[in-house]
Amino acid sequence: MRILVVGSGPVGLMFCAKLSREGHECVLIERHDFNQTFSRASTLQPATLELLSEFACWPELLAQGEVVSDVMSWNLERSTQQRSSYDALSAQTRFPYRLHLHQAALRAELIAELQASRCCCLVDKADAVALQFDRCNQGVSVRVNRFGSSGLSQTFQGDYLILCDGARSVLRDQLGLRFEGYDLPTPVVRLSVPMIPDSLQGQLAGVSYVQSEGGSVSCLKMTDGWRFVLRPRLSELRQALAGTAWARQRLAGVFRDCVPAQWWESIPAMRDSYRVAQRCVKTRQVQRVFLLGDVAHVTNTRGGLNMNFGLIEAYALASCFLNHPDWQALQHWNLTWSRLTQDALMARTQQLLAGRTPRFLRSSSESFGALMRASLLDLLSYSKSLRR
Ligand SMILES: Cc1cc2nc3c(=O)[nH]c(=O)nc-3n(C[C@H](O)[C@H](O)[C@H](O)COP(=O)(O)OP(=O)(O)OC[C@H]3O[C@@H](n4cnc5c(N)ncnc54)[C@H](O)[C@@H]3O)c2cc1C
Repeated sequence: MRILVVGSGPVGLMFCAKLSREGHECVLIERHDFNQTFSRASTLQPATLELLSEFACWPELLAQGEVVSDVMSWNLERSTQQRSSYDALSAQTRFPYRLHLHQAALRAELIAELQASRCCCLVDKADAVALQFDRCNQGVSVRVNRFGSSGLSQTFQGDYLILCDGARSVLRDQLGLRFEGYDLPTPVVRLSVPMIPDSLQGQLAGVSYVQSEGGSVSCLKMTDGWRFVLRPRLSELRQALAGTAWARQRLAGVFRDCVPAQWWESIPAMRDSYRVAQRCVKTRQVQRVFLLGDVAHVTNTRGGLNMNFGLIEAYALASCFLNHPDWQALQHWNLTWSRLTQDALMARTQQLLAGRTPRFLRSSSESFGALMRASLLDLLSYSKSLRR
């Protein structure tokens, strides 16, 4: 059985890594150079760590990431704090923590693992532009344009095609699938700094949701510093997307009672931003084509739920293929993950829109169940027990 995969983001790599680890061959087609180093998502939840821990690169991933057990919500105006710890999940997982790891590091390690396995044929600088089903639905082919080869075009044929080509997939459009949902009016703005002031050291947990009269911010501890995630209002958009001044001022406003404003002015900082949407496809399977990750769903990025969900479903589909599935088993995967996308991913991320505090910090009576859902540990059984 020949499996073609388009897209070497974290989700496509997870799918190929699982197949390759069990000695199953696949072809991975990527538009860019495999050495691209975008820094995007950074949170790996316990359920994902359970799956990644079976790969040879796991010790490297762990060594490069920041282990974060404590989460807090801090209202500076009311001087109230709620803290929660992933330790509460110790009986449920060997990994009762989040790992904050740059997406580029995750990609690099998974690519190195695939190169070492020799089961995955890696094809980069290859833009997949068209797909076609064989007559009689016995297979599927993808046409790619190779960069740097004076417009050379090449066709790959397989029994199945797995699309992991991200939110802007052109191949999804060719399948006639609608990416239904809506875009949020403003993007998220992220400021990365190498350190925080002494007055916040020991105050902030590794994940902190902070509110004050001056606004709200999510704070994430990374191995190389801190990331502050801010949500500008529509009226602030122009300033928010020009340089770092707006983000610095917002942070100075939020922390005005504990950090001098000049501190935020002088710290070296990098700003980036990304658009947020709540969108998904209704089905994950069209004949011999399957959709995984951002090509199938994009959501609010809080807690990295969207990427983690993509990684878990990719592992589940790869495991399904390793079981030599019949058509019914593949349809079962499709029905299960189409339903979970709506009932779990979309529902949970909807609750976190507009920077709302996660449920496990809001209500102590619900905290265990809410933490299980935020860690996606309740979905692990779907990726591990695949037979109908
Ligand atoms: C700027 C930015 C910042 C983000 N920050 C965060 C964050 O802080 N937290 C968070 O949780 N999430 C964040 N995200 C979202 C997160 O990066 C995605 O959820 C995650 O990368 C999804 O992985 P994926 O493998 O499904 O898709 P992608 O990572 O998008 O990978 C798709 C891959 O397919 C390749 N590709 C696309 N089209 C073709 C084609 N035609 N032929 C061949 N290859 C193709 C692309 O080059 C890419 O390598 C961010 C996204 C962006 C864009």
